[in-house]
Amino acid sequence: MTEHMQQFVRLAQQPPEKRAAVERREDFGEIYRDFDPKDAAAQASRCSQCGIPFCQVHCPLGNNIPDWLKLSAEGRLEEAYEISAATNTFPEICGRICPQDRLCEGNCVIEKGFESVTIGAVERYITDTAFENGWVRPIRPRRERAQSVGIIGAGPAGLAAAEALRRKGYQVHVHDRHDRVGGLLIYGIPGFKLEKEIVARRRAWLEDGGIHFHLNEDIGGALSFAELRARYDAVLVATGVYKAREIDVPGSRLDGVVPALDYLIASNRKGLGDAVPDYDSGALNAAGKRVVVIGGGDTAMDCVRTAIRQDAAAVTCLYRRDRANMPGSAREVANAIDEGVEFTWLSAPEAFVGAGRVSAVKAVRMHLGLADASGRQTVEPIAGSEFTIEADLVIKALGFDPEDLPGAFNEPGLTLTRWGTLKVDSKSFMTALPGVFAAGDIVRGASLVVWAIKDGRDAADAMHAYLETAAARPDGALATAAE
Ligand code: FAD
Ligand code: SF4
Ligand code: SF4
Repeated sequence: MTEHMQQFVRLAQQPPEKRAAVERREDFGEIYRDFDPKDAAAQASRCSQCGIPFCQVHCPLGNNIPDWLKLSAEGRLEEAYEISAATNTFPEICGRICPQDRLCEGNCVIEKGFESVTIGAVERYITDTAFENGWVRPIRPRRERAQSVGIIGAGPAGLAAAEALRRKGYQVHVHDRHDRVGGLLIYGIPGFKLEKEIVARRRAWLEDGGIHFHLNEDIGGALSFAELRARYDAVLVATGVYKAREIDVPGSRLDGVVPALDYLIASNRKGLGDAVPDYDSGALNAAGKRVVVIGGGDTAMDCVRTAIRQDAAAVTCLYRRDRANMPGSAREVANAIDEGVEFTWLSAPEAFVGAGRVSAVKAVRMHLGLADASGRQTVEPIAGSEFTIEADLVIKALGFDPEDLPGAFNEPGLTLTRWGTLKVDSKSFMTALPGVFAAGDIVRGASLVVWAIKDGRDAADAMHAYLETAAARPDGALATAAE
């Protein structure tokens, strides 16, 4: 260990500067400024180089955090980049949007008396610097293979798998029903967390590496799953989860009560310069409106903060548990509060009221009861505690379930778990169909980008093993599916 590490005892935690709330409310730019190189090195030097680095243990990708922190502290950024990129396909994206307070930083041991190392910000800084300096080299497989792979879904799981398979020389084709690459990175997550250029930069890099994108192609619609399967030697399903959970209360079909993802996609498309009639008409635009968002996860936080930037008259988040039990990142909740969002915790909607169009939300106060079998406290309404919030736009952000994929793909052989996610063998990532693999939210349920990347990389390894075995067989026939 070198003497210039362990600076946490004398140097306070200092993340990159956060733009003032009044300024960031005015646009969709990222809220953190870039690290100054000197500050990045100094913050990296706060790491105590733990023998058992709990940060790494709690990073889903097992990133070698202590090593790239040490190299960053020494100014050896190109080497830091090589180590960071060895385990993470998109470190600059994770550095921006991982809920670090629950993962690496939340488990940094110096957190016990000092504030954690700013791991995410340094990770982002390393790869942004690598791009600026031309260290992010194009994907150039050592040898080309004739075998081809079809990937359904250009979200982080599909893209991470595409990169890993292309690196091994496979002919990789990614199909997506959207017109842009990135999945929720482009149309779900707003620019104030992840600017769109960051995703577009990776698309260009993947294309330059020889990955083919087939956009505006809905598998099960424009192209059948059977046709797609016949085209490729192996297929990866990485379609994410998109069926919005409903609120079963009176008035949930009134005009002005909208699903979160419709709202976010409209806002993201507008920012990307697309024509968005539902935004222009006001149907999916919060400007001048009193907005109520129902939910307490990442999607709800993105909606409230988008509404603030669209110049809503007032923005309230209604969540049935308390702040400590919110599923979203604590950091994003704090950012939302700074930006002017009102939180009404321990409250749930009972009805949306209005004549044709919503004008108010009737809600009731909740209290936290005993823990259920899952260990989570139950919530119960408090009798006589009803209240009303006036609203012109209500956004439902209660989470997502998987769509009926066997139905959409007309393929009953794709078996499901009891949660409706695709069933795969935990080691081979293969579904019940030979040569068909799956990864990301469609397997795990709504989760995180870092987990999608991890699953995409692991599925790619399993597909490679499968394809090599198939290639070695005299008849080239494919192995049978795992149970
Ligand atoms: P997706 O990103 O959903 O990509 C799936 C792709 O498949 C999409 O492009 C879709 O168009 C395509 N597709 C689906 N069906 C078909 C079909 N039939 N034919 C062709 N293409 C198809 N995670 C974080 O870590 N940090 C965050 O801050 C964060 N914020 C979030 C905010 C919002 C609003 C939402 C909704 C999620 C957020 N998440 C966040 C979760 C994260 O975005 C997901 O876990 C992650 O994107 C899942 O990756 P994926 O590749 O499995 O699926
Ligand atoms: Fe932390 Fe996410 Fe980076 Fe892992 S990938 S080190 S969890 S920010
Ligand atoms: Fe460094 Fe914190 Fe990781 Fe320890 S837990 S190696 S101090 S970043």
